[in-house]
Amino acid sequence: MSHAARTARLQASLAENELQALLVTDLTNVLYLSGFAGSNGQLFVTSDRVVLLTDPRYAARAGTLVSDAEISIYETRLRDGLTPLLAEQKRVGIEATSMTVADKADLAGAFPDVELVDTRALTEELRRTKDEDEIAHIREAVRVADETFSWVLDRIEPGRAERDIALDLEVHMRSLGADAPSFEPIVGSGPLSAHIHHSPSDRALELGDLVLLDFGARWNGYCSDLTRTVVLGSATDEQRAQYDLVARAHAAGVAAVMPGAGGRDVDAQARAVIDEAGRGAEFGHGLGHGVGLDIHEAPRLHKTSEDTLKVNEVVTVEPGVYIVDSGGVRIEDCVLVTETGAEVLGKAPRDGLLEMN
Ligand code: ZN
Ligand code: ZN
Repeated sequence: MSHAARTARLQASLAENELQALLVTDLTNVLYLSGFAGSNGQLFVTSDRVVLLTDPRYAARAGTLVSDAEISIYETRLRDGLTPLLAEQKRVGIEATSMTVADKADLAGAFPDVELVDTRALTEELRRTKDEDEIAHIREAVRVADETFSWVLDRIEPGRAERDIALDLEVHMRSLGADAPSFEPIVGSGPLSAHIHHSPSDRALELGDLVLLDFGARWNGYCSDLTRTVVLGSATDEQRAQYDLVARAHAAGVAAVMPGAGGRDVDAQARAVIDEAGRGAEFGHGLGHGVGLDIHEAPRLHKTSEDTLKVNEVVTVEPGVYIVDSGGVRIEDCVLVTETGAEVLGKAPRDGLLEMN
């Protein structure tokens, strides 16, 4: 879908929200709507104009990347760039989750006749449904993560540090053509695998460790997100049972993904499996999240989610059981919502705990 088609959908939602214009400040939304990528850029959208605002550092790049919007360069202050645009506006939406309190106060002071209206997720809602090209990019990002997982298995050895493996993951994904990792890889070993969002440490891997790898690639801007847990040496019965429980919860979660399913219901289907085994307290996070230009985006699969899944959304399914002082298991895949249910995009093996001997 062209950037013009995307902004047209946003322009339709302006009228529904009784706004004359929307000032888009979230950089991912600016990228999605205009193609502009940089550390400073805003998009001003009215019913008949789309203007990208940025500073001189990005003038040349904006000219290359942006074809469906006017480009306006301001020296240092956004309000200077907005002065000609806001002259005739009365109700202008701002992105409440992105604009700072200081920036809002600055605009309110400079434009006392303009009502700044907090909006939430107008563009994020549009981003939920992926078009063909976006799905193709996500499939490539998933393929890179899958290939990297198979490659790294030979490098999971006693004595190597978590950090070494995290670096291996990053370098290999880039060598396969990824833009970058989609986030800092998580490598947790032994008791540290029970830390849900662990930062790879100097801890050296030991025989008997559960090793949890959570990482992904970015391909043409689009993210993948993969978690696999393996054991170094031979698995104990407890480790195997813990893995099989998480695998059953993962399967229940995937089975529940379909158009019309509620984000909280999909979470509940997977969570019930872990609850019934008496381990509910050890699954301390939501089941999953949307994936796209951002690694975490709408919709959410969570106890408190009010989202309803739609065709061509991509979400993760990532149940886990984390036993303090012992270790954690998480299994995560990116899943595409299809007309008939769900397609797990990844092919990394997940049936049975892999033993690294
Ligand atoms: Zn992940
Ligand atoms: Zn995730």
